[in-house]
Order: sequence, then structure tokens, then C-alpha cells
Amino acid sequence: MLRFFNTLTRKQEEFHPLEEGKVRMYICGPTVWNFAHIGNFRTFVFGDILRRYLKFKGYEVTHVFNLTDIDDRIINEAAKKGVTIDEFTAPYITAFWEDFDALGMERPEVTPRATHHIAEMIDIIQKLIDNGKAYESDGSIYYRIAAFPEYGKLSKIKFEGNIAGGSERIDTDKYEKEDARDFALWKLVSEDEEPGWDAPFGRGRPGWHIECSAMSMKYLGETFDIHAGGQDLQFPHHENEIAQSEGATGKLFAKYWIHSEFLKIDDVTMSKSKGNFFTFRDLREQGYSALAIRYLLLSVPTRKQLNFTFEGLQGAESTVERLRNFRQLVREGGNPSRSEGVDIEGRDEDKLPTGRVSASFALEKFEAAMDDDFNTAAALAAVHDMVREVNTAVAERGLTAEERDAVLDAIAKFDAVLGIFGPEESADLDAEIEALVEERQAARRDRNFARSDEIRDLLAEKGIILEDTKEGVRWKRK
Ligand code: AMP
Ligand code: ZN
Repeated sequence: MLRFFNTLTRKQEEFHPLEEGKVRMYICGPTVWNFAHIGNFRTFVFGDILRRYLKFKGYEVTHVFNLTDIDDRIINEAAKKGVTIDEFTAPYITAFWEDFDALGMERPEVTPRATHHIAEMIDIIQKLIDNGKAYESDGSIYYRIAAFPEYGKLSKIKFEGNIAGGSERIDTDKYEKEDARDFALWKLVSEDEEPGWDAPFGRGRPGWHIECSAMSMKYLGETFDIHAGGQDLQFPHHENEIAQSEGATGKLFAKYWIHSEFLKIDDVTMSKSKGNFFTFRDLREQGYSALAIRYLLLSVPTRKQLNFTFEGLQGAESTVERLRNFRQLVREGGNPSRSEGVDIEGRDEDKLPTGRVSASFALEKFEAAMDDDFNTAAALAAVHDMVREVNTAVAERGLTAEERDAVLDAIAKFDAVLGIFGPEESADLDAEIEALVEERQAARRDRNFARSDEIRDLLAEKGIILEDTKEGVRWKRK
């Protein structure tokens, strides 16, 4: 039974979706004003693990992941460059999806952009004006927090007295508000100013929070199962989403809330404003693989902080390489000295030592770890324990056919969730490599060393390393 920590109740809860067998979830996506950094990707990789694990558990998942393509930073940067906001965000949106795919994340079912959902935002704001939860001041529209007594139920922040300016996280607009906590739903924009949209309550542009209320409810309904995002979004962003959505519908907005802890660097939160960040691209340019970056980002459970170090990344690099070679070894029949497959059927089973490799036990441990608040660290430990056990068996005696199949099956199941072994190389590709290795052997027998070297180079280009051993030639992936 899957259990996880729900920020709304501050408790570990059993997961029961609203509709049996189906999960509807929303994760706040990036603001596309720059390249996303690996802190952002820590939160997004968790989102990917969450969706993959729910699928692993048999649920049908509808995952909505938005792009915030309008905010003050985007407007300012576009104006500085003299381009429209669409022209300004386009290359960052392309870059974001490139990074997203490279990190092995599955594309969510719906990836809406804020600027394509202005009409839905206007609808919610109109409802809030009509039911007294929003008001106009100097042409802008504000949420009236005094009209939503449950305000604070997610973040558990107690609001006492007037706290304007008391916290930098509270929106201190220049306009007159009834209460310092009130936040902008719609910001006045003059006739000749861009970007701006016409609404029954005047030309303007949306506040940030209303975007997510509009995009989540449009695709998931007024009440849905899971809402997630980084820890910093809990307040005010998610608190305001609840106020807007529940204020408009009178219904529960999201049943479960999950907040990811920060990626830190030298114990300081990685952020654009602090300048202490690495983008995914920075690390790729330094030669680190996407797989290792993904491994590092998911290696610590999401509700614990993760401190980024290059040592850690280097460690992740060796680990994913070991895992890939391990899968290759098992596929080859669990015998490290042969590349052409092993006749495991013919082995005398009676002579095998006791202590059979148990892939099903590893899978049980993996699932128990993930069921426990998505404990990815313990889930990885289950994978590594199995690898160790299998390696020992291989060194002592090789694997039975049954064991080999069970281990390969377990690897595929782990990887449906974790995605750390990387894409499965196709059997066709293996056959092609085998054929080249054979051809090189034949060339060497014919003393055609030019051809043999040529094939070695060709294989190297495909990332294949050849090793000459007593038993013959063995190949592995770099
Ligand atoms: P933004 O593009 O600023 O809207 O942020 C996108 C997501 O990244 C949000 O869910 C943030 O909470 C999350 N985020 C920002 N910085 C970090 C960090 N250092 N570690 C983990 N998540 C972060
Ligand atoms: Zn959001």
C-alpha cells in the first residue's frame, strides 16, 4: 500500500485516489525566462518518479505540467531585447523540453502554457468577483483573503495583524489593498502597453497564482488527486491556488499535496537569483552524462535536502556505468568471460551452490521502499543489493537461464520507475555488434589487420570496447 506525506494534513497517509484506478495530478512547471537549473530539475525528476511509480502500481495517470510563459521577469527581459514575450520564451521552451527528454523524463499528458489559458483565468476571476472574494482597486483585481477563512490551511502560517512588508514573500503591490495579505489576480495594463488582454473587468494581465488554478482545473476537474511542486511554492503560491480555486468552486481543490526539498550547493539553496547554480547544459558540457545527473537528483528522497557536489556526480557516473555493464553481463548469460551467450541450459544444476539469486525479493524490497513515502534511497539500495548478489553468483558459478530472465525482468521493472539503466539497447543492435566482432576475428585470422583495425574503430564509435581474453574476444559498452 502506497503511503506518503501529505503537506495538507502534515501526515503520512495511505493513497486512495478519488476515482478507483485513476490518478489526476498537477505539477507546477518552470518559468521559461532562462535555462532551468539542476535544482529545478530535482523537483521535476521527482515528478517523473511520482508518475512512473503510480503507473508501476497500476494506475492510469493524467499528469498536467504547465509552463509559466508570462511573469514580470519575462516581460522585463523581452522589453529589454525589444521582442514579444512569445519570441523571448520560444528558445527557452525548446531548450527546456530538450533537457527534459535528455533526463529521461516521460512527457506528461498535458503541458499547457499560461498565455494560452487567459480566458479560463478570466472566468475564475469573474466568479470570485461575483461571490465577493475579489475586488477592484485602482484598476487591478485582488483576492479578498478575509472572505476565505481557511486561508493558511496548507502552509499553517498564522496571519495576525497587518504584516505588509513583514516578509519579502508577501506580495507588496504598489496599489491600495484592503488587507496586506490580499494578492493580485489581475494586474491593470494600459491600452498601449503589451502584453495585455481584455476582460470584462478591464484590460490587464494575470497574476502568477491564477495561472495554475485555471490550468489544473481545466484539465483535471475542480477536485483532483495530487498537486506537487518545490518546497518554496507551498507559500504563497499553493496557498493562493487553494484560495482561488476553492473560493470559486466551493469544493476541495487537491486531496494530496507533495513538496520537494531543495537542491543545495555548499549548503545554500541553488537559485538563479543567488547565482550559485548549474544548468543541466553546464554539466553536460563538462562531460557528465544525463543518466548520472538523473541518478544523482533522485538518489535522495524528495523530502530531504540534497547537497550537490562534483564528487557526488562523479560517483553517480561510475554507478550508472556499473549498472549498464551489469545489465549487459546478465544479458550475455551471466558469464563475464563470454560474449556469444552461454549454454546455460546444459549446466549441471546439482553442482550449483545454494543461495539462489532472488530477483523477486529485490523487487519486494524496492516496492516497499517506494511505498514508504517514495524512499528512492532505499529503493536504490534494493537494486544495488541485487547487483551484488548476482555478481557473486556469476563469479562463483554463472546464472541459470531462469535466474537470468528473472534478473533482466527485475531490472526492467526497476527502470520503469527509476530510469537509471538508460534505454534498453535493442537485440538487433547487439546482433549487429556481434557480427562486427566476428568479422574482425575473421579479418585477424586472415592477417588483414587494416580491416580489423577499421572494425575496432567502427565499434569504438558505437561506444563499444573490445577486450581480448583467454576465452576469446569480449565486448562491453563504454
Ligand atoms: P521556477 O522556474 O522558478 O518557477 O521553478 C520551477 C520549480 O523548481 C519549482 O517547483 C521550484 O520550487 C523548484 N525549485 C527551484 N529551486 C529549486 C532548488 N534549488 N531545488 C529544488 N527545487 C527547486
Ligand atoms: Zn503553480
